[in-house]
Formats: sequence, structure tokens, C-alpha cells
Amino acid sequence: MNENNNKKPNPNGKRRSPIWVLLLIALGITIIFNFAYSKLASAQYEAVDFSEILTLAKDDQIARVEFYSSETHVLTLSEEGKPEHEQTWLYTDGPSATDRDKLKNILDENDVAYTNLNPQEMNPILSFLLSWILPVVVMYLLFTLLMNVLAKKMGGGSGGGFGGMGGMGGIGKSKAKVYMEKSTGVTFDDVAGQDEAKESLVEIIDFLHNPQKYTAIGAKLPKGALLVGSPGTGKTLIAKAVAGEAKVPFFSISGSDFVEMFVGVGASRVRDLFAEASKVAPCIIFIDEIDAIGRTRDTRLGSNDEREQTLNQLLAEIDGFDSSKGVVILAATNRPEILDKALLRAGRFDRRIVVDRPNLAGRYQTLRVHTRNIKLAEDVDLNKIAQATAGAVGADLANLVNEAALRAVRQGRQTVNQDDLLTSFEVVIAGTEKKGTVLTDTEKRIVAYHEVGHALVAAMEKHSQPVSKITIVPHTSGALGYTMQMPEEEKFLSSKEELLVELMTLLGGRAAEQTVFGVQTTGASNDIERATDLARKMVTQWGMSDKFGLMALATVSNAYLDGSAMMNCADETAADADAEIKAILDACYQKAKAVLTENRELLDEIALFLLQKETITGDELMAFVNADKNRLPETTETPVAETPAEETPSEETEENAE
Ligand code: ADP
Ligand code: ZN
Repeated sequence: MNENNNKKPNPNGKRRSPIWVLLLIALGITIIFNFAYSKLASAQYEAVDFSEILTLAKDDQIARVEFYSSETHVLTLSEEGKPEHEQTWLYTDGPSATDRDKLKNILDENDVAYTNLNPQEMNPILSFLLSWILPVVVMYLLFTLLMNVLAKKMGGGSGGGFGGMGGMGGIGKSKAKVYMEKSTGVTFDDVAGQDEAKESLVEIIDFLHNPQKYTAIGAKLPKGALLVGSPGTGKTLIAKAVAGEAKVPFFSISGSDFVEMFVGVGASRVRDLFAEASKVAPCIIFIDEIDAIGRTRDTRLGSNDEREQTLNQLLAEIDGFDSSKGVVILAATNRPEILDKALLRAGRFDRRIVVDRPNLAGRYQTLRVHTRNIKLAEDVDLNKIAQATAGAVGADLANLVNEAALRAVRQGRQTVNQDDLLTSFEVVIAGTEKKGTVLTDTEKRIVAYHEVGHALVAAMEKHSQPVSKITIVPHTSGALGYTMQMPEEEKFLSSKEELLVELMTLLGGRAAEQTVFGVQTTGASNDIERATDLARKMVTQWGMSDKFGLMALATVSNAYLDGSAMMNCADETAADADAEIKAILDACYQKAKAVLTENRELLDEIALFLLQKETITGDELMAFVNADKNRLPETTETPVAETPAEETPSEETEENAE
């Protein structure tokens, strides 16, 4: 599918019109008014000779006379009673001063009123201005004011943060909540932990500092990066810190601010945002909750026109701007999987930076950062607090510290003590729905053994992929912990031996739970599902069972979509296949259990270490294994070291929270 934005015409033209429409309306009304005025107010004039006026004066037929500097208007008696607009005035040029005096004398005699208006006939330019330009301008201003008020009402009443006074034809102008900060004042020092994320952003900072360095060599600069992580893990904070470190302005807007009820508003906001940003480049644009606009477009449940249009505009802007100007877009989401593929394409948000929940060290540092300006009592042990808060995110910890400080104030103390911190832990974390992500001690122990179970089986067996990371920090996806394996080289073929070891590894988690605690937990559900799927494929598609040999029992119907297979055999055969699958799984499970029982000490050792550190690398794991001298003298090659948490590791064994 073509993800480009050739679909919607630029709605710009529509927005331009009000200026001209309003002007025309104002002009039209002015014309009508002026016409009506001249009709109503001014009587008709009839040019006559001065002598005729003199004659009328002598006959005493004159009601009133108005002398102007260069002409004379005369109202005859017959016209006097009529309404003004029906009167006919006689008028004559001049007359000369002597004639005028002559007329005045006659009028004086007859007691007729006359006025010496002599108002240096109004300057024609001035009168034009007064009767034409002024009303048009006044009306135009009134109209735009009215329209702006209306537009504001429709637009949700948000008070445009910047550049909102694009003014005049301001319908659909950027009313989004864009906040620009000239300097955020946040630096990497304010971001605790998250070293991997910071590391990936150093380059962007350098680039914002001196783009020339990159352009000189011909390198294309990164346009954007996607920050992925649970709410409160500090994505906004990190984005601000990047701006702060690079000393550039920071624009921030939330994805949901783009999406309005009116089609076209979001798109125009995107356009305005980029226009403003490129004026002050280099700078950083931060789009929070990008999933609000960036979710994948081909949803079956009918599409959302406005959102699509906004997304298209965003894509167009990202492609359109010249990255050498130094505009970097950082976007944040906690649901990367629903984002439109077009957004993630190379040249757009192709960099993905995972902002994970902090581990023990990270939590400790976060607490340190947030207690910098807080007076702590002697007895405070932040490490203990960090230990108690496994699964908490930065925002929780910041909140916890603040609650503790408030409690200290309430109790009239000058310093925050350990008790305050522990109590507010209960209030902030344990007492809320966040409990789901904070494990109890027992749960933590089970999860730790479970993960080490996976890892140890993998480490003990040949043909296994090396473990690169084990963690019991709950994952964004809801997994309570996971073990990540990295293949040494990319592989397209797997042998039966490798697959069996993979099965053992997958089942190693449950095996550990069972061996150590004698319990079976829900944590293994994902493992079991994957193991069963694998075993089924071995039996039905890959000809790896003794019972069915090379017979294919299932066919893959749509290899390009989900690759799901359909059973293609008699019902009894299918039942036999199920039995065979179960047998394979059972055998692998027993083997995994045997490995763990044999290495029980090692299992305990590593699990304890994992409980303390919460995240351990493949190297650390292998150090334990190698130290266990009785075993595996030949496995010296250390596996891929400390792989930064990649979003889709080729092999990841994790379990669901439920
Ligand atoms: P997100 O954007 O990921 O939802 P925020 O960046 O808004 O999270 O974080 C909210 C607050 O939590 C921050 O203002 C900060 O006080 C605190 N916080 C989160 N992560 C960290 C961290 N790594 N170091 C220090 N403080 C943090
Ligand atoms: Zn598992």
C-alpha cells in the first residue's frame, strides 16, 4: 500500500478565502449604505442662473439660503414643507461678492434666513476616506473578531501558545497547545539511569550543536527518534534534556491535541508547528502520545478521516523539511506496535529508543535526583526504598519523594525520614492500581528463578543461542521479566537438535518454578504457548517426529500474512499428532528439569544475584557458569555482550502478567 499523502489536497486554499470574502462583504455593505445615505439625506439639486435666484428673492419666494464658498443653495418656499429628501434645492455657482451682497440685502429686507456655511468644501480625499475606507475597515475588523471568537469556540477553546495571532483570517490557525520553551533548563544530570537511551541521543545533541560537521561529509542527519516506554518512565524528561543539552528551543505538543472534530484542523496544526519550528531551527519538536495520530491506518473498523489526514500531513512535513536545518523530532509512545509502518520507515522515526522501567540502580539514582533539594534525616536509606519499589517508574518515585516531604511538613518536622518514605511508598505505589507492576517479594523470587531457569538451561546446552540479558524489571508489554537471547549469526535454518534445545529453554522457566518452589504459576503461559506452537510445527510441518516422519499434516495457507497453518489430515491422525506433540513437550520439560536439578546450586546463586541486580548481562551469567568449574570447560566463548534492549529480539522468552 502506498503510504504517501497524495490523497488529500492541501486544504490551504480553503483557509485563505475568509480575508477576501470578509473584505468583499464589508465593501458591499458600505456601498449600500453610502447609496442609501445619498438617497435619503441629500435632496435633489437643480442648477439655475443667479439672476433667477435674484428674481425669486425679489418675489419673496425663498425660504432659506445657504452660502458656500463657491456656490449658493436656495430652498424655495414651495418646497419648504416637504420632507427633506423630497426637496429640490436650486443652486448656482458663485456668485461674485457684489452679487452675493445684493442678494443678502434683499433677503434681509424680506426677513429670510440665510447661513454663511462657507465650510471650505470638505477635502475630497478626506470625505472618501470617511465614507468608504473607514467603514470597510471597521466592518472588516468586526467580522474577523467575530470569526475568531467562533473559531475559538469550535476549536475547543485552547489558547494558542505561540504564533496564534496569525490574526486576521484566523480560522483553523494553530490553536493547538504547542509550548515552546526557549531553553528547557533540563540536562542529562536530571535524568537518572536510562544510560542506554542517553547514549543513543548523544549523537543527536552533537548534531544540533554543529550540523555542519555532518553535512560537510555528506551525511544525512537523523530526522527523528521514537522514545518507547511505559508512562512515567521519563520520555518527556529525556526529550527536554536533549534540548537542554543542545541548548536549543523545545516545542512540545501532544498527539491528541492534533486530532479535533473538524477535518483539516489537525493537518493545519502540523503545518503550523513545522513552520514555527523551522523559523527557530535548530530546535527539537517533541510529540507526545504519537499513537493518537500515528496508529496504523488500515483498520477494518472504518477509518478516521481526520486522523489519517493529520498523519499524512505529518509524514509530508517529516519528508519535506530539510534536516540540515537542524530540526529533530522526538516522539513518544507506549504502544509502538500500533504505529503506522509509514511512520517507522527509514528516514522518518527509524530510530527507536527504549526508555525502560528503571532497575534497582536506576531507581536508586532517580531517588537521588529527586531528593537533591530535600532535607533528609540521618536514617534515610534510599537503597532500601529502591529495593522496595521494583517496577516503579521515575514518575512514581518523584511522586513518592514529594509525598514523603509533604508528610514531614504535616508532622511539623524539618527533615524527611525513612518512615516518611516508606509510608508514602504505600500511599503512592502499593495502594494504587500501579500495584500490578510492583511485585511482592515472593513474586519477585519466583520470577527471578523462572528467568534464571530459562537462562541456565540455555547456557548449559549446546546448540542454544547465547543469553544476552536477563531481567526481572517488568516490561512495557506486561511481561514480568524476560530473558533475551541473541543468535551469534543470523540463521535461516534450524536443526532438530536446536529446536529441541529451544523447547527446553522455553520450558526451563516453569521447570525452575516447579523444582524450587513446587508451584506452577501463570507466568509461564506465554512460554507454554510458544513451546506448543514450535512442537506442533516440528510434528506437522517439518517432518521431525519419529511417528509421522516426513508426512506433512498441515499446510500453510497464507505464508505472507500470519503464516498460520491448517491441519490437513484425518481427525484420528490429528489426535495422534497432538499426542506426539505432548510427548515431545513432556520429554523436553523433563530434560530441562534434570538440568536445573543437577545445577541447583548454580541456579540459586544466579537467582540471588538477579534478585539483587534485577538485570544481568549475558557476560555476568556466563561468569557464573564458567566459575562452576565442574561444568562446561569448553564453553569459553562469551556470547554477544550486553545488547542494548532491542525491541524485537530474535528470541525473547517472556511471560504475561496475568
Ligand atoms: P513520560 O513522558 O515517559 O510519561 P515524564 O517524562 O513526563 O514521563 O516523567 C514524569 C516525571 O517523572 C518527570 O517529570 C520526572 O520528575 C520523573 N522522572 C521520570 N523518569 C525519570 C528519570 N529517569 N530520572 C528522574 N526523574 C524522572
Ligand atoms: Zn518464561
